Amino acid sequence: MELVIRHCLVEGDARDIGIEEGRIAWVRSPGLEVPGDPTPDRVIDGRGLHAFPGLKNGHTHAAMTLFRGYGDDLPLMEWLQTRIWPAEALLTEEDVYHGTRLALVEMIRSGTTYFNDMYWHRPGVVRAVEELGLRAHVGSVFIDHGDPTGVAAGALREAVLRQVSERHTLNLRVQVALAPHAIYTVAPESLEWMADLASRNDLIVHIHLSETRSEVDACVATHGVRPAHFLESVGLLETSLVLAHGVYLDEEEMELLAAHGATVVTNPTANMKLATGGIFDYRAARAAGLRVVLGTDGAGSNNNLDMIEEMKILALVQKHRAGDPTVLTAREALALATTAPSEAFRLGSGDLEPGAPADIILVDLSRPSTQPVHDPVSALVYAANGDAVHTTICDGRVLMHDRRVEVADEDEVVATAIAAAEKLEGR
Ligand SMILES: [Zn+2]
Repeated sequence: MELVIRHCLVEGDARDIGIEEGRIAWVRSPGLEVPGDPTPDRVIDGRGLHAFPGLKNGHTHAAMTLFRGYGDDLPLMEWLQTRIWPAEALLTEEDVYHGTRLALVEMIRSGTTYFNDMYWHRPGVVRAVEELGLRAHVGSVFIDHGDPTGVAAGALREAVLRQVSERHTLNLRVQVALAPHAIYTVAPESLEWMADLASRNDLIVHIHLSETRSEVDACVATHGVRPAHFLESVGLLETSLVLAHGVYLDEEEMELLAAHGATVVTNPTANMKLATGGIFDYRAARAAGLRVVLGTDGAGSNNNLDMIEEMKILALVQKHRAGDPTVLTAREALALATTAPSEAFRLGSGDLEPGAPADIILVDLSRPSTQPVHDPVSALVYAANGDAVHTTICDGRVLMHDRRVEVADEDEVVATAIAAAEKLEGR
């Protein structure tokens, strides 16, 4: 037995949790010793702490922590053109490594054990994830600006093929996803090529879709169909498709996507901060049977990666949109950050049960701001934030205990990320 958590609370009931080979071996009433149980390598005292599954961030650009607070309060295109794109043009793999490490320390401290990433300089992201011990799908952004035969597209295709062929050499926690940026930055021919590659290799495809109304209008003007139908025409609905945003999907598109088992990642904070003009229609998605998961998007447009805060914002914005406080409950918000992404990203069970990956957080709900706890899920989603996370475990490894990160020197991670950010900003 590698690790035992003693006397934590699961749904309000005291439980011991045994962990072996990265998986939950058993969940028992406390003190129930079974003859022949091996002595654990490590015991964590969970008394007074609430155990939840590790949170899963469905859409982010981890290294954009380097651009946290850089160009706030600007319209989307002005922010991209005057701030983000010029700085990103200077990024090196080392910068991305430092920015990703900062993101991972933040995720560990706020209870996130998995994230779905899309960014530049993928080897820098992979190195950080392998070192700090989280789980991730890591995709290289693919942008050919509508030219599928240009030099840039050729080099990107080669890089993608290399990643796909080398994927078996990765640590099992780190997986390859294909990440075409969006339908307005990638040529249809390149999307068809990626759809075919993903289908043949059973890969997840991660793309931004229908984030703004102008994107939908442009798709209809150019291709004569709305974005989900366009994805069907290039073969992407035949893949394991993950769509970031989906703000402007209509009901017919949602039904089409649901019929093909696609997933939408809703990023409420980023949508509101950039004022993209609409709010994803969760009620319609649920009626269509479409799988929905939660994401933070990058720290450039959020400005943190706190999935506990994001669950609250998700619930609030959906209640507000529907004029109905029952439309998305605290329990549903938690499911969008745990069980639903576990299914979408094929991570195994997202519940705390035997056989599930040992991705577990222990949360301290004993503070004045979260007391009294009538319902632990309500306290987590509506009253707490990431600072309430006490212990973070991923793949059976303790990444943080009693708010102390064990897998990195936090001060060093922060200092090197600040230095990288200052260099990119030309300071
Ligand atoms: Zn994004």
